[in-house]
Amino acid sequence: MAVDTKARIEQFKFMAEANPKDELAFFSLGRAYLEGGDAANAIPALQKVIELNPKMSKAYQILASAQTAAAKQLEAIETLKAGVKVAHERGDMMPRNDMLKTLKEHGVLMPEYEAAMKPAEPVGEGEVHCKRCGLVKPKMARQPFSHATGKVIQDNVCADCWREWIAMGTKVINELRLPLNDPQAQKVFDQHMMEFLNLK
Ligand SMILES: [Zn+2]
Repeated sequence: MAVDTKARIEQFKFMAEANPKDELAFFSLGRAYLEGGDAANAIPALQKVIELNPKMSKAYQILASAQTAAAKQLEAIETLKAGVKVAHERGDMMPRNDMLKTLKEHGVLMPEYEAAMKPAEPVGEGEVHCKRCGLVKPKMARQPFSHATGKVIQDNVCADCWREWIAMGTKVINELRLPLNDPQAQKVFDQHMMEFLNLK
C-alpha cells in the first residue's frame, strides 16, 4: 500500500474515532481502505456510513465495490438494490444509473427503475446536461472558479446542483475540520466536491 494512502487511512481512522457520528469521516476511511486494496476493512467503515446516514447513495455504490472486491457477490447485489432505491428517491440519477448498470452486469434487472432511465435530451444554448442530477437544466452564468476545474464544472453541472454543493461543501469543511490553506486538505475537499458532483 502506498505511503500516502496509509497516512490518509490513519488520519481518517483518527477522525472517525474522535467523531463516531461523523458519516464523512467513515466514508473517507472506507474509500481510502478500498483504494489501498483493503476491501475487508473498507466494508465495516462503509456499512457504518449507511447506518449513520441511510440516504447517502454514493456509500452504497462504494460498499458494493468493496463487497465485490472481497468476493461477496450476493451481498454486493443486495447493497446495490438498496442503493438504487435510495438514489432514485433522492433524485441522484447518475449514481442510480451506474448502480443499475452494475446490477445488470451481475445479471440482476430492476425494470421498475430502469423505465425511468431517460435518454439524454438535446442540450440547448445556456443549458447543460448535468452529470449529478441527470437532467438538462440551466447552466451557471459563469465558471465557479477561474481555473480548468471551474470550466469542467460549468460545462457539466447545473446551477441547482452547484448550489447544493455549496451547502454540502460547508458541511465537509466543518465536519472534517479542513484547514483550506493546507494543500492536502484542499485535495480532500476537491475529492469530495468531484464525487458529490459525479465528476471523475
Ligand atoms: Zn443538476
